[in-house]
Amino acid sequence: MIQQIAFVLTLAAAVFIIARRVGTIRKNIRLGRKPLADDRPQERLKNMTLVAFGQKKMFKRFIPAILHLFIYVGFLVINLEVLEFVIDGLAGTHRIFAPYLGSFYTVLMNIFEFLAVAVLLSCVIFLIRRNVIKVKRFWNYEMTKWPRLDANIILFTEVILMLAILTMNATDQLLQQTNGHYTQTGSLFFSSMLMPLFNGLPENTLIFIERFAWWFHIIGILAFSIYITYSKHLHIFIAFPNTYYAKLEPKGHMNNMPVVTNEVKLMLNLPDANPNPAEAGRFGAKDINDLSQLNLLNAYACTECGRCTSECPASITGKKLSPRKIMMDTRDRMEDVRKRIDKGEEAFADGKTLLNDYITKEEINACTSCNACVEACPVMINPLEIILELRRYVAMEESGAPASWNGMFQNIETSFAPWKFSPADRFNWAQENK
Ligand code: SF4
Ligand code: SF4
Repeated sequence: MIQQIAFVLTLAAAVFIIARRVGTIRKNIRLGRKPLADDRPQERLKNMTLVAFGQKKMFKRFIPAILHLFIYVGFLVINLEVLEFVIDGLAGTHRIFAPYLGSFYTVLMNIFEFLAVAVLLSCVIFLIRRNVIKVKRFWNYEMTKWPRLDANIILFTEVILMLAILTMNATDQLLQQTNGHYTQTGSLFFSSMLMPLFNGLPENTLIFIERFAWWFHIIGILAFSIYITYSKHLHIFIAFPNTYYAKLEPKGHMNNMPVVTNEVKLMLNLPDANPNPAEAGRFGAKDINDLSQLNLLNAYACTECGRCTSECPASITGKKLSPRKIMMDTRDRMEDVRKRIDKGEEAFADGKTLLNDYITKEEINACTSCNACVEACPVMINPLEIILELRRYVAMEESGAPASWNGMFQNIETSFAPWKFSPADRFNWAQENK
């Protein structure tokens, strides 16, 4: 009974903390101005199924994709076992499904154990890649102490959790041999390899280790579930809405500014121009509340994998730009603004803005708008859209574009092209090459 009460209290506390944090993340995303688009639901569902559920874009790099797939499938399937943990915890039972499922239970447990071992090995290989081989994209300048530690905590925790499952099953099998009260699970291949480690221990010690591993695993999973809502690992959930709400237009499409479009239409006397347009508001984005809700959702979905940065021509050629950092900075700014709101302070009155205090002009000006980062991202994040919005603000609100660009702007305004030629001379080259 004491164990059941302890379990109910632990579960309730975890559910409460997670629900509160999810609420905070939703409120942060709603700080953005343009709401999430939900038109064309069939295309959106297809994207979500292929990219988030099917991991389609991960397979551009085969070996990490396979290892990631093990962790992902392991996460989904092993959580079915957690269902039994929760029911056992609430009802005070032990392996409640075993008598009902019979030999199918043995098959299921062996599948879970295979996945647990696959997750464990994949995590160890990922830890080696990050910390021993030091794959370059995990050591970029924006991967400071915390992001690197965060990734290691996640991988290390998963290793420990998988070891706890195998330890629990190994000691449970030994107890099944000596104590008639223990439900028979049948032979479990991987955990039985650990049985020699515990052979010969007194029954009380075995019971203690089995119970300790059970509690460790379930508390570990609940603590991990809370932790990931503060970590880059949140992508395991946010990748789903992120791919659903992702932009459906072709990658090269840039969002027009309706006010500017209307002004051009008025200049050209087009019939669908609105002669009384609404107040223009701010052009581009200076802070997170100028960005769209999709931009902010993107920031929470970022896995910090660095695939975007490793493909970015500006980054490769040594410019001070990392699309991954753009997403990390956007998320950091949201969290900083939320801390002020939670303290009852004016949200944006800290004298800081996303532009300048988190992302510099040097960074946004280095972008070639090539879309390589968008193409590379495994969860359909678009760092370029944030860069373009910040650049729009600098160019249109501050007239602060680099001096070398101003000639180009003037040419576009007067000659409708970046070059200083009259539109009437545009086809001269064809005459010259006749
Ligand atoms: S669009 Fe900009 S940030 Fe993205 S890869 Fe190209 S240069 Fe880098
Ligand atoms: S934006 Fe995408 S590719 Fe870049 S680090 Fe985040 S998840 Fe990875």
